[in-house]
Amino acid sequence: MLRNNSVNPRMGGPGEINRANFIQAFLEKEGFQVLRVDVPDSGYSGRVRPNLCTKIDGADKSKTLWFLSHLDTVPEGSRDMWDSDPFEPVIKEGKIYARGAEDNGQSFVSSVFALKSLKKLGVKLPFNVGVWAVADEEYGSEFGVKYLLDHDYFSSKDLIVVPDAGSPEGLVIEVAEKNLLWFKVTTKGKQVHASLPNKGKNAHRIGMELALKLDQVFHEKYTKRDSMYDEPSSTFEPTKVDPNVPNINTVPGVDVFYFDCRVLPEYSLDDVLGDIHAAIQESSKRNGVEISLEVINREDAGPATSPSSEVAQLLGASISRVTGKKPTYVGIGGQTVGNLFRKKGFPTVVWSTVDDVPHEPNEYSRFANLISDAKVFAVMPLLSGS
Ligand SMILES: [Zn+2]
Repeated sequence: MLRNNSVNPRMGGPGEINRANFIQAFLEKEGFQVLRVDVPDSGYSGRVRPNLCTKIDGADKSKTLWFLSHLDTVPEGSRDMWDSDPFEPVIKEGKIYARGAEDNGQSFVSSVFALKSLKKLGVKLPFNVGVWAVADEEYGSEFGVKYLLDHDYFSSKDLIVVPDAGSPEGLVIEVAEKNLLWFKVTTKGKQVHASLPNKGKNAHRIGMELALKLDQVFHEKYTKRDSMYDEPSSTFEPTKVDPNVPNINTVPGVDVFYFDCRVLPEYSLDDVLGDIHAAIQESSKRNGVEISLEVINREDAGPATSPSSEVAQLLGASISRVTGKKPTYVGIGGQTVGNLFRKKGFPTVVWSTVDDVPHEPNEYSRFANLISDAKVFAVMPLLSGS
């Protein structure tokens, strides 16, 4: 599977088709029926982005426990930094090294092994159990999960496990994510010689003042904390600035700064944007300059999945049964496709056991984790009702 380069085509790769074909052939050889969803992508030479799933039936056929992993990977990056060919897997000391070995190959293989075992044992399942392999996770999921959710490939009773993030101990179950907002503010002043600043308008000074003002407003207003999150408060960080003038003796006529905001779900990003607009208007009026706002990225958080929900309880119980240890339920500031499911009302857990080396050179997966996670996935449906 890992020999089939499946770097996302929007990131310069060949796309997911070869890997999807390989997996489909494997599953069919194992006796599984595969549903393939090829999503049209006119911006890509391959024309379609493949998604596929298979499942085995349980007593309640209207409900499926899904394990959903993604087919695509990020590029390998600089080959000099790899000790081996990123698309020719190497097995060494209990690990397999390749691009996509951890993200998200390990979890896909774990879930397929779980499904194979359940099928082979012929155990009675309370509901269906299935796996998805989806496209385009690394570039926004337009041709993957977003398409599948918009076209009703899931039913309202389904339980969703997204094994695409985790911890080395495998004891952290992610049930909530924060709102995400990236924004850019451009201030247009008037560029002049630095020895005669009064002839112009220093956009950099106005921009800096505005950035500090926003920083202050955010941190005074959005003060709630929730200890469930790995970072308990909302975060508002001024990050990037665009270069302005190349020399020291010119007053910059344009200033551009950016913020990265991760806001607890009990707050609305509309309120945050309202504060930004108000501060911009005030500064623009007072300084007599044009200031504009651009939202670069906005992802509103879906409702947190309750740790007492069925899927969270089944996963927690299964982890305890397999490992003998008790997991904790946490929220994170990042965003996974789990959020896309939560926004549509599906209780969703994000979990796996990984050393957390995605996107790195010499990415790897530990076989011990792969096998242990496969056990956890296989045991989950068997604990239902117990
Ligand atoms: Zn991933």
